[in-house]
Amino acid sequence: MQISTTLTSTPVDDARLAGILGDPGFGNFFTDHMLTVEWTPEAGWHDARIEPYAPLSIDPASAVLHYAQETFEGMKAYRHADGSVWSFRPEENAKRMARSSHRLALPVLDPADFVQAVDALVEVDQRWVPDTTAPGAGEKSLYLRPFMFASEVFLGVRPAQHVTFMVIASPAGAYFKGGVKPVSLWLTEEYTRAGRGGMGAAKTGGNYASSLVAQQEAIAQGCDQVVFLDAQEGRYVEELGGMNLYFVHRDGRIVTPATGTILEGITRASIIELAREMGHVVEERRFSIDEWREGVASGEITEIFACGTAAVVTPVGALKWDGGEVPCAAEAGEVTTAVRQALVDVQFGRAEDTFGWMHRIV
Ligand SMILES: *Cc1c(COP(=O)(O)O)cnc(C)c1O
Repeated sequence: MQISTTLTSTPVDDARLAGILGDPGFGNFFTDHMLTVEWTPEAGWHDARIEPYAPLSIDPASAVLHYAQETFEGMKAYRHADGSVWSFRPEENAKRMARSSHRLALPVLDPADFVQAVDALVEVDQRWVPDTTAPGAGEKSLYLRPFMFASEVFLGVRPAQHVTFMVIASPAGAYFKGGVKPVSLWLTEEYTRAGRGGMGAAKTGGNYASSLVAQQEAIAQGCDQVVFLDAQEGRYVEELGGMNLYFVHRDGRIVTPATGTILEGITRASIIELAREMGHVVEERRFSIDEWREGVASGEITEIFACGTAAVVTPVGALKWDGGEVPCAAEAGEVTTAVRQALVDVQFGRAEDTFGWMHRIV
């Protein structure tokens, strides 16, 4: 893919950038450039370009604003101690976007072009990848957001004939303000995230839109995050609004829900491999809410954690529902901490990359 580049004449200056990278938060600041590729049925993917970051001017009749034909990805670029910059399993994000796009009747961007596009933007904006070697610098990274949307100006309901793919980037610190402290969960029994044959396995904005009211309920109940059950029986644990779940058992076994309607996280898949390498038996299967309640009560379940690119691995504390609660872990457990450390050590180049997961960009 041919990518043209127009550099900004007003990049953020060094002092301001140092201030931003000192405390980036999550999703607040955006780099100097953005990447765009257009698609039409006649021309295929074309006009790939990197330009100064700027608001888009879009027609109010753009299809995505009405019918939500959209997919996205979330990934990160990490700076290693020698100054090099790497991404983590980018071809997995590329393949997942292809699967999501297929589900949303969007055109598929070739995975090689996806990786090239992400690499090209990171290379141009490489000074935005935080240095993490300074004492107390923490686990900062450059969060990358590839996304694709129906940009055709047309109110008829059919797959769009003009689609836009973009990549933007945003420096990231800790996703949860509390740091690596257990999050409390609210079990919603009113709302579900995804049904059989629906879009649960696709990374699309609509899934998040439908999760927000349940997330709002969680906050109102004094919890951090919402947990969803399967739509059919209301019995099997699916996932949080944007993170997959793991249940560590007394004998070291780890169970993670597999239902066909969850989003298959790349962190989830990587943790399955890492945990097996660390000697854990990992089971992917249906896991009922009763198994959760009873397992915690009996001590059979010793740790619970959630995972995803943005927050990496987050311990889960209390589970609350209408009429009950199972207790809270005050701190991250041993297995949670070890899995988290093993994963971030590979991502930040502090441990050998035995799985060949890292992809060098700069
Ligand atoms: C993105 C996402 C995840 C986590 O996937 P990762 O590839 O690990 O970042 C989990 N659940 C949902 C609903 C998601 O959208």
